[in-house]
Amino acid sequence: SAQIRIGIAGYGNLGRGVESAVATNPDMTLVGVFTRRDPATVTPQLPGTRVFGWDALAGHEDEVDVLILCGGSKSDLPEQGPELAARFNTVDSFDTHARIPEYHAAVDAPARAAGRTALISTGWDPGLFSINRVYGEAILPVGETYTFWGRGVSQGHSDAVRRVPGVAAAVQYTLPSADAIAEVRSGTRPTLTTRQKHVRECFVVLAEGADADVVRKSIVTMPDYFDEYDTAVHFVDADVLARDHAGMPHGGFVIRSGDTGGGNRQVVEYSLNLGSNPEFTASVLTAYARAVHRMNAAGQIGAQTVYDVAPGLLSPKSAAQLRAELL
Ligand code: NAP
Repeated sequence: SAQIRIGIAGYGNLGRGVESAVATNPDMTLVGVFTRRDPATVTPQLPGTRVFGWDALAGHEDEVDVLILCGGSKSDLPEQGPELAARFNTVDSFDTHARIPEYHAAVDAPARAAGRTALISTGWDPGLFSINRVYGEAILPVGETYTFWGRGVSQGHSDAVRRVPGVAAAVQYTLPSADAIAEVRSGTRPTLTTRQKHVRECFVVLAEGADADVVRKSIVTMPDYFDEYDTAVHFVDADVLARDHAGMPHGGFVIRSGDTGGGNRQVVEYSLNLGSNPEFTASVLTAYARAVHRMNAAGQIGAQTVYDVAPGLLSPKSAAQLRAELL
């Protein structure tokens, strides 16, 4: 059957990840990248990828089956999501959890009016983690759900460390507390604050002549950012920081702990250990583009979330093949 024609709107980390992901899915083809910048200044990572200006989206409505929106959640998607959902089937990774209901409404009306399908807020959180939270609650109604994030780079905390006098460069990771994870996995269902659930780790390059003890103390006592967490500070040289800490790893856990029947403990865990947050997120968006193409063909229009997508629609395999091979 015909290949699914994908467009990429916005070419940052996520956009590059979608470009790579489409290349690994034989049932998909990339129409090109659309950017707000001058296309002549944007060099694609793969030879053969076409780069268009944003204006060229007009005129590509019939050539793109699904447009994957790779803009930022803060200011790009609130504007681009509703506008593009009136013209294309779309997939996005809008991740400002508190604003998802209003974003859903803003995208739903134009998509529905145009007969388009807009899958919002997919990726891993929101996305795969959201699905696992629903499974946990629905299957084990008597229980607790725990979400842990990390090990991952926190941009805001890295910036805060870089502003400490005596710091030349730094990267900050947030990671789950080993004690908290062990307690949750044991099934005792502890009450944990966000602060108890996570610890912080900093890799710091000292400025010339800076005193390591003074810098460490300024970091671990910094109000709001570090003072209420357990924080480890490691001093490294600039080469090590560039070699070992330039990536974008992330991940985490969703754990549901509950009781059934005669008070039997049941603990369910889903975990991600991601070498590249944007490349993994992009791979999720790309699989959902396949589902959106099928949902639109079946008449399921308007804004949709991962909760509205049957898992089989993500797979290039037919329903019969899935029953025979994976069920
Ligand atoms: P990013 O690299 O900052 O890219 C965002 C936009 O900025 C791009 O679409 C691009 O638009 C523009 N841009 C990128 N590089 C640029 C440059 N050098 N100069 C000028 N403009 C540039 O952001 P990202 O890492 O791809 O992340 C995008 C969003 O994904 C995040 O905001 C986050 O909300 C979401 N996310 C979601 C999940 C999830 O699990 N749901 C996980 C990770 C990330 P133009 O090409 O139009 O200029």
